[in-house]
Amino acid sequence: MPTVNSPLDHKTRWLDIRHNELYIGGLPLSRLAAQMPQTPFYAYDRQLIAQRIAELRRRLPVGIELHYALKANPMPALVDFIAPLVDGFDVASHQEMLVAINGGKAPSEISFAGPGKTQREIEAAVAAGIVLNAESFTQIDQAARAGAELGIAPRIAVRLNPEFELKSSGMRMTGGAKPFGIDTEQFPELLESMRELGLEPEGLHLYTGSQNLNPTAICEAQEAAICLACEFIQRFALRLRFINIGGGFGIPYFPGESPLDLTTIAEQLVRLQRQTQQVSPKTTLVLELGRYLVGEAGIYVCRVLERKTSRGTVYLITDGGLHHHLANSGNFGQVLRKNYPVLIGNRAEGEEKEQVTIVGPLCTPLDILAEKVMLPKAQPGDWVVVRQSGAYGLSASPQQFLSHPQATEVLIG
Ligand SMILES: *Cc1c(COP(=O)(O)O)cnc(C)c1O
Repeated sequence: MPTVNSPLDHKTRWLDIRHNELYIGGLPLSRLAAQMPQTPFYAYDRQLIAQRIAELRRRLPVGIELHYALKANPMPALVDFIAPLVDGFDVASHQEMLVAINGGKAPSEISFAGPGKTQREIEAAVAAGIVLNAESFTQIDQAARAGAELGIAPRIAVRLNPEFELKSSGMRMTGGAKPFGIDTEQFPELLESMRELGLEPEGLHLYTGSQNLNPTAICEAQEAAICLACEFIQRFALRLRFINIGGGFGIPYFPGESPLDLTTIAEQLVRLQRQTQQVSPKTTLVLELGRYLVGEAGIYVCRVLERKTSRGTVYLITDGGLHHHLANSGNFGQVLRKNYPVLIGNRAEGEEKEQVTIVGPLCTPLDILAEKVMLPKAQPGDWVVVRQSGAYGLSASPQQFLSHPQATEVLIG
């Protein structure tokens, strides 16, 4: 597929431009938009997701399991599509658990993470036979109670909060004080209370962080995770089916960022796999990825309602904004707001360019789609397309805020 240079010189390997128009899923944007009830909408391309997963599999050593974290994009049709392409799902709520079960994965290949779980959620997980990533002493007790009531042995993996962290990460989830998992120092005591209840962990879960483009940092965290897990296996005679070493693989969003280089990560995983097998031959390594699998396969599309000039700044005011795409507005974990790659979908290579700021319809200065970008000169009715929008889009946005129409989602290709 040809490479596209956005106005920000931000490259993607996926989307295509022909005759000045964006194509996704093999369709011109105008055809796609004609299928939809209205703008704004999200579109995700099956082929791009499948290609991404196939490429990742090709690079990773054989035997590494690949799990999809539904949190990144829980659209049921997308989850169903991914199900046969991955080895398991990670869910973080009862509803996500149902979507994962509906997707057709075996319960033993579904794991349930989250620092807060109700007794009801834990009962449902135990009843379904999925793996509970237990994150506290309380969750262990709750799982034991649910198991006793249902007359089945709960499947439990222990989520650890090690002392190390995933450096240069968008979000860090281990190291120091954290609400996620249990501190490694508390593991001996937790294991003892599990064993008193007749429970054995079938896995360990270490999720160190998210959105990372630095292979060295990822390698360091993965190595530390395996060292710790192997130490625990030996010290406590654990019989683990798996070690989930998290993921955190990032995608490039902003100018100057480039795609994650998998070379050293894949090379190191071969060694880590061997190291694990020496200590525990039946233990498999699991990578748990969300954004990396789906993030680059989705776009968000809205329409220009108006052009407006205010004291020298040209604004494009659109019908879409932070209520559908909070992350793009910079209000989902960014410290300094940066622009996602955007284009004018029906004038992708327009001759006449101008600097614009693109805003949504909401009555708040936070509702920014792109600030001071050079784009082909757009007119009312034109499509503004935000790329890299397949993950943490609609489900991570406050759709009710200001009561504008909701966005729709479609899976194509
Ligand atoms: C958020 C999260 C993921 C997915 O993170 P990505 O950055 O989308 O890959 C996976 N596992 C756990 C436990 C998470 O909290």
